[in-house]
Amino acid sequence: MNMNTTSNPLMQVSQLAVQFETPDGVINAVNGITFTLDRGKTLGIVGESGSGKSQSVLAMMGLLATNGRATGQVLYQGQDLISMPTADLNRIRGNRVAMIFQDPMTSLNPYLTVERQMTEVLELHKGLSRREARVRAIQTLDAVKMPEAARRINMYPHEFSGGMRQRVMIAMALLCEPDVLIADEPTTALDVTVQAQILVLMRELQRDFGTAIVLITHDLGVVAGLCNEVMVLYGGQVMEQGSAEAIFYRPSHPYTAGLLAAVPRLEDGDAPMLAIPGAPPNMARLPAGCPFTDRCAMALPQCGVERPAFAASAHDADVLRACHLGIEDVTRNLQYLKSQLGVAT
Ligand code: SF4
Repeated sequence: MNMNTTSNPLMQVSQLAVQFETPDGVINAVNGITFTLDRGKTLGIVGESGSGKSQSVLAMMGLLATNGRATGQVLYQGQDLISMPTADLNRIRGNRVAMIFQDPMTSLNPYLTVERQMTEVLELHKGLSRREARVRAIQTLDAVKMPEAARRINMYPHEFSGGMRQRVMIAMALLCEPDVLIADEPTTALDVTVQAQILVLMRELQRDFGTAIVLITHDLGVVAGLCNEVMVLYGGQVMEQGSAEAIFYRPSHPYTAGLLAAVPRLEDGDAPMLAIPGAPPNMARLPAGCPFTDRCAMALPQCGVERPAFAASAHDADVLRACHLGIEDVTRNLQYLKSQLGVAT
């Protein structure tokens, strides 16, 4: 997976944009995101709440609210999911392209046992008998390391702990061995130990099943061990996009640098959680220029009025960025930024 077109990508997203009609006017929630995804690779989409990351993937899955409209292209094996009739989309959704939500109760039915929910999916998409489906469902629960899967499959969702429910949802998403798994903040609601277990599990499943993953998160620390490429969103616009290695070790955008500085580091022990000062922008009142202007410690006079081009970095072929500052200026200011956030350098 990379920003450039590969010969036969599994998924190819071009200029995906999302608009919402609201009583206050049209809100541009996502403004033209582009990426390709190859089998077995992971893209991390990172940003604070309201940055457009969840709306991007809901648009890819045809799950926007009724006042939302997606434009652009989402090609899955050459077929455009955005313009596809719902009946055709239903054959792909939950089968070849599956999604894990932040809150398992969003996608689990509280009134049905886990067995019924899992076997229904396999009967519908794979044409298995109920007996065959039960065997496959137990195998999949085993694969996500659910203890005593054959017994627990008879339980209702509320009888599981938060971490176990998340495993059930991952198992549901993996039942049909999808080509693409979209995970929207899959570990946010869980405690740190369970978070780590779920992330290790996703890595193992990717290795074993060859699944490509789109991982949505507000936490750059979470994507560090899992992603090949990272896209950083702010105010519905891509701020920086490139290989995980480039984004983590050579951030060239003030917003990415701020997010990275705010990641708690193990060696800092009890260091407090740091955050970029200020709040995410009001999407109905974005500045004409860079959406990060009000919070950017390095903003220039033209930043609020002139939209920076999203263009290849002059210094790194692996990176696209949208910023008026040159990379040398960002790097020079990084030390200042860290000192503003109280981060040891
Ligand atoms: Fe900061 Fe200006 Fe770059 Fe936006 S364009 S990130 S406001 S320096």
